[in-house]
Amino acid sequence: MGQFKAFILSKDGGGQALRWADLDESELMDGDVTVRISHSTLNYKDGLALTGKAPVVRRWPMIPGIDFAGIVRESTHPDFKPGDAVVLNGWGLGETHFGGYAQLARVKGDWLVPLPAAFSPAQAMAIGTAGYTAMLAVLALERLGLVPGTGPVLVTGAAGGVGSVAIALLAKLGFDVVASTGRPDEAGYLKALGAKEIINRAELSGPARPLNREKYAAAIDSVGSHTLANALSMLKYGGVAAACGLAQGMELPGSVAPFILRGVTLAGIDSVMAPKVRRLEAWSRLARDLDTRLLEQMTVIRPIADAPALAEDILAGKVRGRVVFTIG
Ligand code: NDP
Repeated sequence: MGQFKAFILSKDGGGQALRWADLDESELMDGDVTVRISHSTLNYKDGLALTGKAPVVRRWPMIPGIDFAGIVRESTHPDFKPGDAVVLNGWGLGETHFGGYAQLARVKGDWLVPLPAAFSPAQAMAIGTAGYTAMLAVLALERLGLVPGTGPVLVTGAAGGVGSVAIALLAKLGFDVVASTGRPDEAGYLKALGAKEIINRAELSGPARPLNREKYAAAIDSVGSHTLANALSMLKYGGVAAACGLAQGMELPGSVAPFILRGVTLAGIDSVMAPKVRRLEAWSRLARDLDTRLLEQMTVIRPIADAPALAEDILAGKVRGRVVFTIG
């Protein structure tokens, strides 16, 4: 058995401690596939885990990182063999099972998705769980009948990871995207991704009226709280919204009026336990519908050593788009 390097998050007195350490392969958790990880990424949830600002980690010590891309090294799972390129999002990675901030992972093969041929491992992590969640949200809206031409689509948390990928996807699919951001200086960035209009998130962040003027055919919301309540109150008759995040807050202080007077539908998006069939659909649609030139514009590549500092930044809303971590 060899050794590998990983970030280890441990409980330390009242708080938690993070260190880059050597582990023995015998310490890997149970699974039928061992993956040599080449890239991981920074999602909002990684920020919460690394800083301890929310109880993301539920087993200690933990290797953080809710997703990774890499190459299969050993497998007894029928679907995977050594040399296969794979992606993993969620399934408790970095929460209850050792995660992606490591050179090696042993996981259940059932959790893995083959890396789509359209993407390199770095591109898959530029998408990451944020981008895969944006795709799940678009698929949910499509299943609820959303088609281009029915009105603008609101994307909140626009300059963040979920928001950036959602804008690029929706614009490519022919929707008029209205991007809500607290960073008006990122208007050029958001327009380059495909947003038609930029609004200041302050318009949505205060208490919502039960109903507002009908404006949007749909919304993808990664912010929650008053922002989602306002988005719902502005949906057109029969409008649809996908709720996937809580950057403003976990509560939903709104009214049932949009549901019972305008027939609005709210879809919940969960990426962690999403069934494999949904994941395969999402990754194949990302391969079809995400412009990799736009993906590059929204991504910075950093060494995994930068994860602790960037964790603080993402919670402070200072990270634009996506961050890929290289794991050498
Ligand atoms: P990011 O930090 O990259 O994006 C969040 C964005 O939300 C920020 O960039 C900012 O956008 C906006 N924002 C931040 N704070 C506030 C605030 N107080 N009020 C209003 N807007 C705010 O995170 P991700 O894109 O990675 O994740 C977004 C959310 O989605 C998180 O809550 C995350 O936990 C959730 N998520 C959920 C998943 C699921 O399975 N349901 C999977 C992945 C993510 P701007 O500067 O443009 O205003």
